[in-house]
Amino acid sequence: MEPYFHLKGEYKTSAPVSAARADIEKFIEEAKATILQKGVPAGRGAKIIAWDVKDNAISFDIESDRYLRAHDAFIRLRKPLAGALGKKYKIGIRGAEVEEFIVKLPSEQALRQTKIPYVKKIEFADGMITLSLDVGEAQLENKVPDRIISLIEDKIAAQGFGGKAEHWSLLWESPKKEMKFNSDPTVEAEKRGWIKRAAGRGQWIHGPQMTQVFRTFEKIVLEEVIKPLGYVEMVFPKLDVWDVLKHSGHAKGVYPEVYYVSPPKTRDPAFWEEVIDNYKVTLEVPLDLISEKIDKPIGALCYAQCPSFWPFLQGRTIAEDSFPIKVFDRSGTSHRYESGGIHGMERVDEFHRIELVFIGTPEQVLAHSKDMQECYKHIFNDILDLEWRMAWVTPWFMAQEGLTGIAEKKDVGTIDFEAPLPYRGKDGEWLEFQNLSVNGDKYPKGFNVKSQSGKDVWSGCSGVGLERWASTFFAQKGFEQKDWPDAFRERLGEMPKGIRFM
Ligand code: ATP
Ligand code: ZN
Ligand code: MG
Repeated sequence: MEPYFHLKGEYKTSAPVSAARADIEKFIEEAKATILQKGVPAGRGAKIIAWDVKDNAISFDIESDRYLRAHDAFIRLRKPLAGALGKKYKIGIRGAEVEEFIVKLPSEQALRQTKIPYVKKIEFADGMITLSLDVGEAQLENKVPDRIISLIEDKIAAQGFGGKAEHWSLLWESPKKEMKFNSDPTVEAEKRGWIKRAAGRGQWIHGPQMTQVFRTFEKIVLEEVIKPLGYVEMVFPKLDVWDVLKHSGHAKGVYPEVYYVSPPKTRDPAFWEEVIDNYKVTLEVPLDLISEKIDKPIGALCYAQCPSFWPFLQGRTIAEDSFPIKVFDRSGTSHRYESGGIHGMERVDEFHRIELVFIGTPEQVLAHSKDMQECYKHIFNDILDLEWRMAWVTPWFMAQEGLTGIAEKKDVGTIDFEAPLPYRGKDGEWLEFQNLSVNGDKYPKGFNVKSQSGKDVWSGCSGVGLERWASTFFAQKGFEQKDWPDAFRERLGEMPKGIRFM
């Protein structure tokens, strides 16, 4: 079945147009064979099934298939029509109105969603979703109908996958390893006093021992990835304002999983005195009162770590000798609202990551991803001695938009690094402990970054999650130092004593 578009709309004129009827008719007859046929296969596209002239308006009733959609046809007519009326009659077009706009899209099932902006009604019958759009001139000009249509098409595609897990295919796997432990490492680390649940949800305080392990992991990444591959350190902001998330694409879907950040409406102490007094008297933080005194969120706490770096390059042309750019950040926490998924220290709301970002020509980025995979292999095989695997999965920017499958461009996509956790049993789900993505031109396009040569700019990034490394390592190797690989023990040095409680 084919998509179908039907629009009834009119152009408002600066003066009555009935005197121009004959010329309008001539214009329309010509347009059918010219303006409306441009770039359209013969016999397809948009058809003007009726038109009329009344007072200060010219109305159109247009039907179409997907080749020249009814609203595009309506917009196409405006300029030349204005030209025709202007020259002879000195009449201008003052605006447009859409009386009715129906879009039918083939789908095997009804749409789950019933509220879409600028859509009055959504119906489903006989393999077609019918939308009734409520748009005016401003929305036509801003291409809102096009975006509604692609939004619905994406939703139809996503529903078609039937909530199937994301795309997954094995790239590489290590040999089986002897497991030294089969309990939940979080429980054991807590018992040993290496970590303690913090006051916030999904938040931990890492004691001296766990911190030493984290720092050792960082040292390994520094020595085995960052130095050999020529990375330099930067400090990325940890509050991502909406503008950053719009350019990075995260604004398309990140909402259920971010922590929102709101500033005070003013920092005038008098404005806040009521809150302060309220607390002093009741010893309860007056949340309702506070919510009246803070602004709408300006953005979210760091979610993906690399987006906030990109304004450093935004709108600029990169000199050839700066390529490939290789920068990393380990300057702060990432935050995600993991909700029910929260578990131990491996799935937390506040976590620590080293993020590596690489940028260059497509060839440089792909070659770099290969080099980086080799560095990681060396770490997990020879230093941490893990059982692990690499899998090619749905890239984050597709997952964000509710899509599954793999990216259209070959070589663009995400590699998940996964490890079995023995305590979850033989068939337990493997844990993703880090990833490595080639994001193609996603970020350079999003932030308008160009290269001196004018060639395509690509980028990639890799997020090393310290909590996930620790969960994996302890789950497989346990907590007895004698069970740990020598190469790791050497780098760890002596474990700090920690704090003893009476
Ligand atoms: P998952 O599917 O396990 O939720 P993800 O696909 O959401 O992971 P990414 O968005 O790819 O994770 O983030 C990159 C890396 O950040 C992960 O490989 C992991 O190391 C780390 N990470 C992500 N979410 C968490 C979390 N909630 N707790 C700890 N580390 C995390
Ligand atoms: Zn990233
Ligand atoms: Mg996640």
